[in-house]
Amino acid sequence: MSSEEQVAPKNFIQQIIEKDIAAGKNSGKIATRFPPEPNGYLHIGHAKSICLNFGVARDYNGTCNLRFDDTNPHKENIEYVEAIKKDVQWLGFDWDDRLYYASDYFEKLHGFAVELIKKGKAYVCDLSAEDIRTYRGTLKTPGKDSPFRNRSVEENLDLFARMRAGEFKDGEKLLRAKIDMASPNLNMRDPVIYRIRHGVVHHQTGEAWCIYPMYDFTHCLSDGIEGITHSLCTLEFEDHRPLYDWFLNEIDVGCHPQQIEFSRLVLESTITSKRKLTELVNEGFVEGWDDPRMPTIAGMRRRGYSAKSIRDFCERIGVTRSDNFIEMAYLENCIREDLNTNAPRRMAILHPLKVVISNYPEDKLEQLSAANHPQDESLGSREITFSREVYIDRNDFMEVAPNKKFKRLVSGGEVRLRNAYVIRCDEVIKNEQGEIIELHCSYDEATLGANPEGRKVKGVIHWVSANNGIAAEVRLYDRLFTHPNPDKAEEGTDYKDHLNSDSLRTLTHCYLEASLDQAQPGETVQFEREGYFCLDSGHVVDDKPVFNRTVTLRDTWAKIEKKSG
Ligand code: ATP
Ligand code: MG
Repeated sequence: MSSEEQVAPKNFIQQIIEKDIAAGKNSGKIATRFPPEPNGYLHIGHAKSICLNFGVARDYNGTCNLRFDDTNPHKENIEYVEAIKKDVQWLGFDWDDRLYYASDYFEKLHGFAVELIKKGKAYVCDLSAEDIRTYRGTLKTPGKDSPFRNRSVEENLDLFARMRAGEFKDGEKLLRAKIDMASPNLNMRDPVIYRIRHGVVHHQTGEAWCIYPMYDFTHCLSDGIEGITHSLCTLEFEDHRPLYDWFLNEIDVGCHPQQIEFSRLVLESTITSKRKLTELVNEGFVEGWDDPRMPTIAGMRRRGYSAKSIRDFCERIGVTRSDNFIEMAYLENCIREDLNTNAPRRMAILHPLKVVISNYPEDKLEQLSAANHPQDESLGSREITFSREVYIDRNDFMEVAPNKKFKRLVSGGEVRLRNAYVIRCDEVIKNEQGEIIELHCSYDEATLGANPEGRKVKGVIHWVSANNGIAAEVRLYDRLFTHPNPDKAEEGTDYKDHLNSDSLRTLTHCYLEASLDQAQPGETVQFEREGYFCLDSGHVVDDKPVFNRTVTLRDTWAKIEKKSG
């Protein structure tokens, strides 16, 4: 690190960890984990947790496991497992040989449950789900003991064995921890720890089990089994901590992880609940989990966000216990900053208007050189072809300038074609409906590269040769929701009521400069004056390449909000 570089202040979790190391806790060892449930793709909120957990391991010479908390087989599947592994790796993190599944511990966890029964700390309960809810009480009223609470250890052992053997139907019996039905903390009111689930095939254990441990029981004990020293999780688990501590005190797994909670990332104009993201996918509101409008890692990758810029974003938003509502503009600025430095510049025409340069020889093709970056020469240059026919953008021409600020091409006026010549518009060709279909212009050979002395041409527009331009489809993506917090919008509205109907505009007749046939799927470039665009990975429509808009050049939403506000 250079001496000028600022050392970022430590967040509260890093401070705790440094104290623990200094005090010789766990012999100075640091072990964390990222514990997703494979019931959906990872999203930007998970990225925060991944960067935190793997980052802590990296910074303090520790280890970070990837563990799937896979206790809910009917909502999970192997597609999600594979997608999660791919996304964590793509983000730049490595679990080495520490890929685990909570289901690896099903036999052990079953043993722990038997241990609790033997200690008189768990019992088989026959109450229905509904009765359990009523017996549970509320925040204001204590719960009521289950009539099955005082079954003998022998009876409980027998019934639990028969649950495992498949003698009972789903919902007929449950195993519950025996804690305190009057506890002010509802999580402590004899929580369910095992339930019966017939007829599901678990993606890891197949049909070996018909009873499954509940998440709360599994999660903390799995952390213990893995020797996790610091169990980092989001704030909603704070109320579960007493229960986790109870399990870890009753059962000696050899390690009692220290749980530390931090606030969830909530990103403006999107949602991060996996249940809702699943709905958007299943109900066809988006094209899939990797739709570039989705806040998923897969979607952001397809949109052209780099792993580095997502990591930078996670670093900058920090880790605290207070609300972590972040504006979309903040994320987009991280993306822009990265692309402004690293994305090569290219020319692309999104709304083509043909220009015939009448005084340019018909069969002449000229190779001109164009810099790949206006400031950074190390990005080199490429050749572009100039020819008699070129495309410019419809928005760069008006018959009459609407105001003095309009520096583009007008009838009888001059403009520079970027990296090439100055042209003058001599004639506007229209169809029968009076729509402009073509411009006839003339070029000035003396203007290549610079204006000759005394010549003032201020406007510069981009263009693509009609001779070898590549026909392409360009997708303009925008925010998925119009409401800043669709999850907590006005009462009586559903998050889906706030979907942005304009979140995708598809332009099917675009032209790209020829050098873009070298672009690799996933590569992001700047289309000059238009924004940053990424070659879609694998999606080709009508033999045309598809480019996704990653982000606009400027924050256009800020402008809109200012106007309307
Ligand atoms: P759901 O949306 O179903 O509630 P989840 O977001 O909790 O699920 P998990 O797979 O359990 O999904 O999450 C794995 C880890 O990522 C957990 O430790 C969780 O705390 C963390 N995580 C999830 N969402 C966020 C978020 N928005 N910000 C920070 N961390 C998050
Ligand atoms: Mg969860």
